[in-house]
Amino acid sequence: MQLSNSKLLKPHAYIDGKWSDAESGNTFPVNDPATGEELATVPDLGRAETEKAVAAAKAAFPAWSKKTAGERSAILRRWYELMLENVDDLAMILTSEQGKPLAEAAGEIRYGASFVEWFAEEGKRAYGDVIPGHGTDKRITVIKQPVGVVAAITPWNFPNAMITRKVAPALAVGCTVVIKPAEATPLSALALAHLAGEAGFPPGVLNIITTNTPKEVGAVLTESEVVRKLSFTGSTAVGKELMRQCAGTVKKLSLELGGNAPFIVFNDADIAGAVAGAVASKYRNAGQTCVCSNRIYVQAGVYDKFVKDLKKAVDELRVGDGRQDGVDIGPLINQAGLDKVEALVADAKEKGARVLAGGKRSEQGDLFYEPTILADADQNMDVASTEIFGPVAPVFKFETEEEVIRMANDTPFGLAAYFYGRDYALIWRVAEALEYGMVGINTGMISTAIAPFGGIKESGFGREGSKYGLEDYLETKYMCWGGV
Ligand code: ADP
Repeated sequence: MQLSNSKLLKPHAYIDGKWSDAESGNTFPVNDPATGEELATVPDLGRAETEKAVAAAKAAFPAWSKKTAGERSAILRRWYELMLENVDDLAMILTSEQGKPLAEAAGEIRYGASFVEWFAEEGKRAYGDVIPGHGTDKRITVIKQPVGVVAAITPWNFPNAMITRKVAPALAVGCTVVIKPAEATPLSALALAHLAGEAGFPPGVLNIITTNTPKEVGAVLTESEVVRKLSFTGSTAVGKELMRQCAGTVKKLSLELGGNAPFIVFNDADIAGAVAGAVASKYRNAGQTCVCSNRIYVQAGVYDKFVKDLKKAVDELRVGDGRQDGVDIGPLINQAGLDKVEALVADAKEKGARVLAGGKRSEQGDLFYEPTILADADQNMDVASTEIFGPVAPVFKFETEEEVIRMANDTPFGLAAYFYGRDYALIWRVAEALEYGMVGINTGMISTAIAPFGGIKESGFGREGSKYGLEDYLETKYMCWGGV
């Protein structure tokens, strides 16, 4: 891997401000999904090292939480600047371990950094309240305090931004953190830790556990009485398990779990805009985001035109190694991801879907899949109920608003939804009726640090980004003043 700042490649865990290895000496490999090449090996930590990281975060908490918001903000701001100064190297590390095209990776680094910038400022606004008393001698004040030590468990699809959007608000309000990145993508997390050290975070404020045994580390983090909050982004199954594990200590929780996003195109929609939005929301990161369109519903009057124009756009997408110029779609993260996509496409074909583009593996390498359109999809196909996490767009035809709302909401998930239309009354009705935490109206791109990202139903709870994202790391304390 060619980097201009080779210090960013740190194949060690980061505990109490020091780079460390597993007590057992065990390591595990980080592989490039585009080539299969081994990029590095990182320490495989377990219970003992995780306990050490939690203890370091606990020891660092009093001093860190007592700093002024302005003092913490200055360090966060420096961290943000360092991320931007190193954007090319951070993007190269990200693409190498995760596969997304370099331009997309650089976009993620800037997006990830934007949470640090935003919360460096917003941390100064953890305001309380003064409430008129309920007796003549009484006064009421409300203050906000950091929850304490926070654990963050993050996925491989956004190895940078899923960390910063949890950690930045936590650090900004005075929490200390133990981060467990996904086993496929620890190098982006460790590069962030290197820059955190340079930015001036005191030892123990930010710790990173690398492990190939997430269950063992997860058990320590969830059972710990010191860890007061867990923020998790990942699959619904693991999220439910972690929620159960956190019950023992009644931990505060933020869960950002799976999605099954509907993308609806009404007859009066701007079709060119809808096609561009569908391509952006479906094929970004090779379809591996939790807000990717999973089901594209198109009203009968524009179905043929939409499908034709979508095919034209998809035929232009280039599959390949994310480091090559002009590549739009990189590899999937691993064999399991590829097998899942193949099985979903086979099921849809068997049940009558028409393959208009792709529908098979790409010749670019072992983990590449061609961008695919499945026309004439229906609700009985597995693609209607399963999060695809690959570059496959099933397109469904519908007749009425009522019918499409029913189909769109017919899922236990409730993360993101999108729709295109022009009639203002329809827009308002549909936006209200969709049971989702986020709704894109005439846009396929909704993620930004300044808006509340999060889901409802089995997609989880808690919000990340925006003023709401700060609340998730704060406790509310009420003081009742008597004898005034
Ligand atoms: P995905 O299917 O996207 O890999 P996962 O939910 O399996 O999603 O992974 C998301 C994160 O959760 C990763 O960091 C992974 O290591 C972690 N993880 C997976 N299983 C567990 C577990 N039992 N306890 C704690 N963390 C886990």
